[in-house]
Amino acid sequence: MTGIDTLPPLREVIATHGLSARKSLGQNFLLDLNLTAKIARQAGDLTGCDVLEIGPGPGGLTRGLLSEGARHVLCIEKDSRCLPALQEIAQTYPGKLTVMEGDALEIDPLAHLTPPIRVAANLPYNVGTELLVRWLTPPQWPPFWQSLTLMFQREVAERIVAQPGTKAYGRLAILAQWRSEARIAMQLPPGAFTPPPKVSSSVVHLTALPEPRFPADPAVLSRVVAAGFNQRRKMLRASLKGIAPDIEDRLLAAGIKPTDRAEQIPLEGFCALAREVARK
Ligand code: SAM
Repeated sequence: MTGIDTLPPLREVIATHGLSARKSLGQNFLLDLNLTAKIARQAGDLTGCDVLEIGPGPGGLTRGLLSEGARHVLCIEKDSRCLPALQEIAQTYPGKLTVMEGDALEIDPLAHLTPPIRVAANLPYNVGTELLVRWLTPPQWPPFWQSLTLMFQREVAERIVAQPGTKAYGRLAILAQWRSEARIAMQLPPGAFTPPPKVSSSVVHLTALPEPRFPADPAVLSRVVAAGFNQRRKMLRASLKGIAPDIEDRLLAAGIKPTDRAEQIPLEGFCALAREVARK
């Protein structure tokens, strides 16, 4: 889209600042500003919102978020080579972009953000999954974020939205769906990125629910789900043996057949079981 802003095209930005992609930082850049604006739109109405962006790189998605009207964008980038390019964006949008250099796994950005807050990121997949799990398991609910709009490799995206009875269904689906509404918002082929990764990607959009779908203690639920899926081929009476000596009774009290496998149990069943396990 010409006229998205007055900045140079991203290929030029990359050439000017010598931003050759580094594999070690998981750098696969989005250079099409039409596409980054489209991804920014998946994040919802940004006017009146602060946006936390992790891993802006040369700033394609950052420019999309700003052109879509974000009140303020705070971005965290590990690669110091990207900072001059990001500063140029900050100058084009005075007072609207703050850039922090560092590792998003170590920085706590909350002091710099004002609610309502949305999160958007195109991150290396391992960092993305680690952050997603952290964002879904805060000490208190509702979390600091209203929504998360995140790029994942397609297989991980499918695990986030997976339903019972499928191979993709597991801990990530339960974590995500217990306290948020999760959906795949966009599919992207490898060729959308420079350089192209080996796999296809998907943008996942998660909206925080005000309350979990079913009551359960988060730590107990997490323990039960981890034990169940760590040995997903086993019957629950075997995989959950370590959770409680009378696990068969507790499974039955939760309305679950002890011979079922984790893969067959819907979210509601896991929450009922977590409540039974928490009972003295
Ligand atoms: N958002 C840009 C885009 O869409 O073109 C860049 C995407 S690239 C897949 C991932 C970006 O995350 C890179 O700029 C990389 O330097 C940055 N990054 C990698 N690990 C990071 C970390 N732990 N904390 C912050 N940024 C990180």
